[in-house]
Order: sequence, then structure tokens, then C-alpha cells
Amino acid sequence: MVLEYERSALCEVGRRMAGTGLVTGAAGNVSVRVGDLVAVTPGGVMLDRMTPADCPVVDVRGGPVEGARAPSSETPMHLAIYEATGAAAIVHTHSTYGTVVASTMDELPPIHYNTLLLGGVVRVAEYATYGTPELAASVRAAMAGGKRAALLANHGGVAIGGDLDEAFENARLLEWLCGVYVRARTIGEPRILTEEQLTAVVERGLAPAEWPADL
Ligand SMILES: [Zn+2]
Repeated sequence: MVLEYERSALCEVGRRMAGTGLVTGAAGNVSVRVGDLVAVTPGGVMLDRMTPADCPVVDVRGGPVEGARAPSSETPMHLAIYEATGAAAIVHTHSTYGTVVASTMDELPPIHYNTLLLGGVVRVAEYATYGTPELAASVRAAMAGGKRAALLANHGGVAIGGDLDEAFENARLLEWLCGVYVRARTIGEPRILTEEQLTAVVERGLAPAEWPADL
């Protein structure tokens, strides 16, 4: 089986996503890239009930390589992000607080310094129908400039990583940051970190993880 290890890893991350409440049902998708090949979760299957054989493999242009099931409808978005960022894994969710912020704001303000792990302010990609090239283009634009995450207007969030574990942790961090922001807004107007405060944190060395140069 092509990319057997990676397809097993997708199933494991799918279970962790369901277990941590990042996704409900079949909402959300995950992929991992190795060279010119991408293993991706299938469309319409519960993320915590997949088997490796359920996860198709496509090439970086979307051509089928192996697998009986159709790749996730958001595969064009995954491929656009790979092309633009050099990531090795992508996690897309409809997590609650991420979707709340994505439905009300144009960006997630830097309410906590750990936003720097995602590349700073997280942009909200302009709305487009799910699964379309327009959505792929809008998310690609929102990730520009070394971002490790984006929100999708009235839809959800996406996070990338140098491997699946990192993409999953970045998706959890995005949801945590959105949760802090939304809850803070319920008791007052949150203080947002200034450019100077963020620069001081960068100077202490906090930055997104380095990725292997051969990605
Ligand atoms: Zn979605």
C-alpha cells in the first residue's frame, strides 16, 4: 500500500481530533504530503472510524494514485496550501470557537503571545463555497507570509505543520486562542498585545517550529 504509514497516521489523528472535540462527525479533513504524493482523508467518512485503506492517495496536482474512496472535497484547498507553503501536513476543522471567530471577525487579534507560534495575527479567508477552487485560492492568500494557520469565513479553520503532529497541535492552539478571545469578549473588551510587546516575545526566541529543509 502506497504511504501505508502516513495513511495509518491520518486515522490516528482523526481519532484524536474527534476525541478532543476539534471535529464532529465527518466535518473536517486531514492530509499529509511525502514528496509529490499526498495521503488525504476520504469524503463523507467519520474521522474517528477510518481505516488506512479508506484514505486515498493523490499526486500534488490531484491525480488519483491509489484508494477506493474519493478524496475529501477540500483536497483542492490542501493542494493549494502545499504548493504555497511547503508544509508536510494539514488539519482542517469546523471547531466551535474557530468558527465563531471566522463568522464575526476579519482576523484573530493577538490576544496571547502564543499566537506567534502560528505566525502572528491569524487572517480570516474570504468566504467561498466549500470544495471550490475559489475557497482554495482565498485560503492560500490568507496563509501568505509564513502563517501556520488561517480561519475560513463562516466555515472553520486550517492549520499546517512540518508533520502531522505539529499540524494537529497548531489546530488545537488555533482553537484555544479563539476560545480565549471569545470568552474574553463575554466579560469585557480584551486587551490586544501591541507590536512592541510581540516583538519582545520574538526577541526571546518564540517562533513557529523550523521545518526540515528537504520538504
Ligand atoms: Zn470544511
